[in-house]
Amino acid sequence: MQWLYCDFHIHTTWSDGKYSLDNVVSLYGEAGFDVIAITDHLLDQESVTRSGLKTSELQVMDKSEFGAYQKALWEAARKAWETYGMLLIPGVELTNNTDRYHILALDIKEYISPDLSVEEIVESIRGQQGLSVACHPYIRNHSGDDPSFYLWENHERLATLFDAWEVANRDDLFNIVGLKKFNYIANSDFHEKRHLLSWKTLLRCEKNVESVKEAIRKNEQVSLFLYRGGKIRQ
Ligand code: ZN
Ligand code: ZN
Repeated sequence: MQWLYCDFHIHTTWSDGKYSLDNVVSLYGEAGFDVIAITDHLLDQESVTRSGLKTSELQVMDKSEFGAYQKALWEAARKAWETYGMLLIPGVELTNNTDRYHILALDIKEYISPDLSVEEIVESIRGQQGLSVACHPYIRNHSGDDPSFYLWENHERLATLFDAWEVANRDDLFNIVGLKKFNYIANSDFHEKRHLLSWKTLLRCEKNVESVKEAIRKNEQVSLFLYRGGKIRQ
């Protein structure tokens, strides 16, 4: 069985990414990736209210856009598969900057509010047969005042709640996730082209959504890969 080249944390112009969904698919498809997940931001209501701005000005999605977003992702998934043989998994990044946690929900079917507690969010993801990932749980070089410490402050309690934790996010490695032997994956947290050159995940499994989710949950044949550019497969 082949190792699959994967990136499970990617933003597009549906939130604060610089690349449109189509351009993201072309970029990763041309590079030869096997599996990507699109994970645009939904932001908690208190953060929106506190900012005094609209969600569009904050470059996050609101609940009313979720249906159209899902539809666009399904359409992009079809194109990605037909054009590149690349699997595209629909997702979101539930972004709670008030209580300071970011959670990836992959392969969910219905809207989940980022205002919910961590436990409620994970339960809802699980109820939809989705996959939950704790994002960038530790200090990142590119953001000093990190808005996502809650997960690490509570990691003893939350350790096995998530299907996986990010052991790497873009340039940052969270060796502590490895040390604790949590289930792990590595992602680019892609917002712009230079972010493509970053830590990624290798998975050894069949190239379909259920097998990918199962492989992450089992977390046996998983590896890290630092992508430096060029074509992965000929
Ligand atoms: Zn985040
Ligand atoms: Zn992100």
